[in-house]
Amino acid sequence: MLVSQGIDAGFAGVLGLVIGSFLNVVIYRLPVMMLRGWLDESVGGLLRPPVGPSLWTQVFGAKVPVPARLESSAAEARAALDALPTFDLAKPASRCGACGHAIRWYENIPVISYLALRGRCSQCKTSISVRYPIVEVVTGVLFALCAYRFGITFTGALWATFAALLVCQFLIDLDTQLLPDSLNYVLLWLGLLGAALGLTGTSLPAAVWGAALGYLSLWLVYHAYRLATGKEGMGYGDFKLLAALGAWLGSDYLIAIILMSSVVGAILGAILLWAGRIAHKDIPISFGPFLAGAGLLCLVIGPVEVRQHFPFVFPFRST
Ligand SMILES: [Zn+2]
Repeated sequence: MLVSQGIDAGFAGVLGLVIGSFLNVVIYRLPVMMLRGWLDESVGGLLRPPVGPSLWTQVFGAKVPVPARLESSAAEARAALDALPTFDLAKPASRCGACGHAIRWYENIPVISYLALRGRCSQCKTSISVRYPIVEVVTGVLFALCAYRFGITFTGALWATFAALLVCQFLIDLDTQLLPDSLNYVLLWLGLLGAALGLTGTSLPAAVWGAALGYLSLWLVYHAYRLATGKEGMGYGDFKLLAALGAWLGSDYLIAIILMSSVVGAILGAILLWAGRIAHKDIPISFGPFLAGAGLLCLVIGPVEVRQHFPFVFPFRST
């Protein structure tokens, strides 16, 4: 039993290294793709062909005249957008950010290439961020853990996907204060489907309540905070992420997730202060990385073990 578990974990770990390499691409490119998409939609709205009243008139009414340069500015932005080369997860091929050197396949082997190149571009010797191999190793370890615990099964693959999506959300939010819907919704739906298929160990009612109450609880905190202070404390992405975690772990885990996210927040804050990333406390850090970190922590400890170790935070027994 133990030997086969080790083989499964080793196989999944290697797969995790490769997936981690892909996650590095997602983490860097997805926010850029989102920003381009938003600009594209905005410009598209302003340049919508005049079938009936223009978008401007629909929003502001006929009494507010359309600004003189609005259309020409939008047309300029449209031309600039159209002239941009394709940018998605596959294109363009990876290049050195400093010198543009095209990264060859053997310079792109997870961890090994980083070590062989001693963390520097083969062409211009600019140092490559140590974050890339760290993401690969962390993803590899998480995949190995999922295979060790659940075997090479649908359940193992599902939890490995959970880990991969949370690694992305953790770093994308840390970098950009964005939590892409495209990842949150996949996470939410997989959690609900996993419960419906009996793969996550959470009953379907607990998953549905977890999603609904997860969203609602942060929505209430957000609006209470906004009414009290006039400021916005978090974003809608945070509600969706807690909803997704609720779908995976069940409604009775919500309090545990929130408690764990504050622990993750304290640790992460200390690390960032130590690393000199946040010298002043007014630089925004959003709640998303803490939530994603709590979800990963729950996976590492094991949902069953979390319930055993923290029985006092499980008021509603729903699974
Ligand atoms: Zn270079």
